[in-house]
Amino acid sequence: MTVIIEYWFVMIRSIRTYPDKVLRSVAKEVAELTEDIHCVCADMLETMSAARGVGLAANQIGVPLRIIAVEAGTDKQSAPLVIINPQIVDSTGEESGEEGCLSIPGYYETVKRSRGVVVKGSSPDGDELRLECEGLLARACQHELDHLNGILFIDRLSPVKKQLFKREYSKEKK
Ligand code: ZN
Repeated sequence: MTVIIEYWFVMIRSIRTYPDKVLRSVAKEVAELTEDIHCVCADMLETMSAARGVGLAANQIGVPLRIIAVEAGTDKQSAPLVIINPQIVDSTGEESGEEGCLSIPGYYETVKRSRGVVVKGSSPDGDELRLECEGLLARACQHELDHLNGILFIDRLSPVKKQLFKREYSKEKK
């Protein structure tokens, strides 16, 4: 009997932090679900879990492609999920909530977002995904989709808070 052992190296990747330029890049569509893409997806889940995040965008680990991972403990959707080429196709309501970002460690601020969103995309296996989400999951999806467009949650703060962030955060990092 031949035993074939497949080695699958899943890596925890380092998370790029503000003001890394890759966080400002607009991520490109994934054209084909290759083995490399599967690797990136597996690494993203591992990295998100290790960092105890509820979401991660591929450009946060330096891969400028439209892939996000989200995790939100609701009844319907409790498992972490990878979405390739995600798009918000519908949104409802408005809600303010506190947000943080793995790329801006230690900084939290209130951000206004849609309360509910419908996200379309595909799974790493190529299955079509349609996600109707609310609450934390909806917030995570909007935050991660922003990342793919080079937008950070600090961009959504009021001008005064933006100024405050720049002053406090750059002081802290010195
Ligand atoms: Zn983030």
